[in-house]
Amino acid sequence: MSDCIFCKIANGEIPSELVYENEYIAAFNDINPSAPVHILVIPKRHCESLNELEDKNLMAELLFGVKEVTKKLGIKDYRTVINTGKGAGQEVFHIHLHIISGRPLKWPPG
Ligand code: 5GP
Ligand code: ZN
Repeated sequence: MSDCIFCKIANGEIPSELVYENEYIAAFNDINPSAPVHILVIPKRHCESLNELEDKNLMAELLFGVKEVTKKLGIKDYRTVINTGKGAGQEVFHIHLHIISGRPLKWPPG
């Protein structure tokens, strides 16, 4: 998608603090972190949200990416979040998974 900010981050058009990448996914620091560790994991291929998901492998790559990122950073305690739809707080319509860590995380989040 030519006007998608995360597609532009994935192809290097927009700079980001890259933490990890492979053939399928990229992981980079959130520009407005809500915790000491706040990383976004995205597929390199555009998909708007879970509502439009067609390729099951895309989610497998994202979740395996979480393991790779957290292993690389030595993080064992973290929260993963996927916001789906405007009403649930999704602002960027290129599917992404938040990794949040580095402070106490209460549950339920409220
Ligand atoms: P959402 O609310 O869609 O689940 O999460 C979008 C996230 O993307 C937000 O936490 C926001 O701070 C982050 N974000 C938006 N634009 C950019 C950007 O250009 N670069 C980076 N690194 N993060 C961004
Ligand atoms: Zn995109």
